Amino acid sequence: MTDGPSYGFDTLQIHAGSRPDPATGARQTPIYQTTAYVFRDSEHAAALFNLQEVGFIYSRLTNPTVAVLQERIATLEGGVGSVCCSSGHAAQIMALFPLMGPGKNVVVSTRLYGGTVTQFSQTIKRFGWSAKFVDFDDLDAVRSAIDDDTRAVFCESIANPGGYITNLPDIAKCADKAGIPLVVDNTSATPYLCRPIELGATLVVHSTTKYLTGNGTVTGGCIVDSGEFDWSASDKFLSLSQPEPAYHGLKFHETFGPLAFTFHGIAVGLRDLGMTMNPQAAHYTLLGIETLSLRMERHVENAVHVARWLEADDRVTMVTYAGLESSPYFHRVEKICPKGAGALFTFSVKGGYEACVKLVNSLEIFSHVANLGDTRSLVIHSASTTHRQLSPDQQIAAGAAPDVVRLSIGIENADDLIADLDRALTAATA
Ligand SMILES: *Cc1c(COP(=O)(O)O)cnc(C)c1O
Repeated sequence: MTDGPSYGFDTLQIHAGSRPDPATGARQTPIYQTTAYVFRDSEHAAALFNLQEVGFIYSRLTNPTVAVLQERIATLEGGVGSVCCSSGHAAQIMALFPLMGPGKNVVVSTRLYGGTVTQFSQTIKRFGWSAKFVDFDDLDAVRSAIDDDTRAVFCESIANPGGYITNLPDIAKCADKAGIPLVVDNTSATPYLCRPIELGATLVVHSTTKYLTGNGTVTGGCIVDSGEFDWSASDKFLSLSQPEPAYHGLKFHETFGPLAFTFHGIAVGLRDLGMTMNPQAAHYTLLGIETLSLRMERHVENAVHVARWLEADDRVTMVTYAGLESSPYFHRVEKICPKGAGALFTFSVKGGYEACVKLVNSLEIFSHVANLGDTRSLVIHSASTTHRQLSPDQQIAAGAAPDVVRLSIGIENADDLIADLDRALTAATA
C-alpha cells in the first residue's frame, strides 16, 4: 500500500510497510528464513555493496521480514526510517554508537528502566563513554549538565515503572539549543499513546519485547530516526558528517540526507556490532503490532480502573499512576500522552516487605515475572528481586522501596484483576 499521511493509526499498524509477497501473493508477511540473497550478477553485487542500490545482501544487515517491521514502526512513530535489532538494550547502544566516542557523554534522566541505569552507569564506561544522571524536572540542571563533550540527551516518555511523565517539549528545547539530539525511549507509551518526534525528539528507541509485540514471546528493539537533525551543522557528529573510515570514506549525511542515521545504523552499526533482529522475532512483532491500538486502549482503561480501586483501599498507602488526579504528573498526560498514561504503576502496601512478598505469592491472575507490556497482567516486588542488591536507601531512590509492588496491567477483565488483588491483599495484610 502507499503510506499516505491521510491513513489513520489503526490502518497503518496493519498495513504500513507490507504488500502482498511479490513471488507468491501471500497476504501475510512471509518469514524470510534465509541468511543470504542471490545477486543477479557481479554488477548488481557491486552496486549493493556500494549502497548505490538498496537490496538484500546478508541477514546480519537486512532481511525482508525485518524490513517490513522497520517501515511499520517508523511510520507509526512519524519517522523517516528505522533499524530493528535484537533487544531494547541493543537499540540503546545502536542509537548512541554513531554519536558517541571515547570521552563523550550523554545526559540522561534519573528516571529510567533499571537495566538502562546499569547499562549507562557501568557498562558504557568500557567504551570510554559516560552518562550524567539528572532530574529532568529541573531544566536548569539539564542545561548545566550539557557540556562540549555531550553528544545526546536521553529519557523515557512515560518512565518505567510508571508514575512519571517527561516534559518532552522542554527537554527537546534544551537539547536543540545545545545542538545535540534528544533520544526518547518510548517503550512504555508506544506510538499509540505518545509521539515523541512530534514533541521534538530526534531519535526514538523501543524495546519491541514489550507492548509492540505485546504477548511476551520475543525480545527485540528498534531505533527510529525523525530525519530532522542536521548532522553537519557542527563538528560533533563526524561519523555522519565526515568521511566514515569504517565505510570506505562514505559521507553518510551528504549521500543519504535525512536517511543518514538509518543507513549508518545498518551499514556500520549492524554490520560491525551484529545486534541483529532475526526474521522469526520480526514476524511475532508484526503480528502483535496489528492490534496495538486496541490493546493499548484496554491496557489504559484497565489501569485506570485498577489504580482507582487501589487508591481507595485502606490496605494501600500510595499509588503512583499518572492517570490519577492525585499524581503530580496528571497535568502532563494531556500534552505528552493524550490517549492515556500507560498501564505500568507501583503501589505501596501496609505491612511493608513481608506483606508485599505474601501479596505476590497470593495473586492468581497476575504472573510474578521480570517483564512488562504483556497481554497478561504481571507483578513484581522489586525489593526482593530486581533491586535486591541495592541498599534500602538506594531502593527508595529508585522507586523500589521494600513496601512497593509494580504492576503491568494486562487486557483481561478489570473486575477479575480487582478481585484477584482484593483476595491477595486480604491474605497479605491478615
Ligand atoms: C525492557 C525495557 C528496556 C530493555 O529492553 P530489552 O528488550 O529487555 O533489552 C529498555 N527500556 C524500557 C523502558 C524497557 O521497559
